Amino acid sequence: MPVVKTKDVCVGEVREYQMSSPLGTITVTACTSGLHTLSQPPHLSDENFSPNIRQEVELLSAKGEGDPPQAVKSCLHWLQVYFKDPAQLTQIPVSRPNICHLHTNNPGFRERVWQVLADTVGPGEVITYGALADRMKNPGAVRAVGSAMSNNPVGLIVPCHRVIRSNGLGLYHHGQRQMVKRWLLNHEGVHKF
Ligand SMILES: [Zn+2]
Repeated sequence: MPVVKTKDVCVGEVREYQMSSPLGTITVTACTSGLHTLSQPPHLSDENFSPNIRQEVELLSAKGEGDPPQAVKSCLHWLQVYFKDPAQLTQIPVSRPNICHLHTNNPGFRERVWQVLADTVGPGEVITYGALADRMKNPGAVRAVGSAMSNNPVGLIVPCHRVIRSNGLGLYHHGQRQMVKRWLLNHEGVHKF
């Protein structure tokens, strides 16, 4: 049998979009297949974190012409619901924007961790690194799970902020955004940290 090379789903041009949010300006990049990245303000840290829950989520700008791809529109709506009332994401429910990295025919460990996390750990829930490794049917992969979290390209939607240590909050953005992690969990109704 000849080896059939599967065509990469990412064929479109990747564009950048910015959205206002209670955390500050969120930058999203996306192709027509889905989101590539969702990033919080680059200089956000525990020293300057000053959330404004009254700040609505709006599309601020788009580099390039034309209508944003569906994933960006879905992302905008998802974030609007998330910052208003995260419980509604599962109650309504709100469809999660497509993520380009997860639309591959041959996902690696990281992609599978991101998928399982996004599919199974909803707003108001937390999971330890160890329990997530168990859920991957790979209990020895705690460090690999940690690595997948610190390399998560699509924050919030792949909810790495819900992954905690067995003895505490665990790091967020290499330990520079602990207040952000705590705020997000509080916002979702998790108050134990
Ligand atoms: Zn893509």
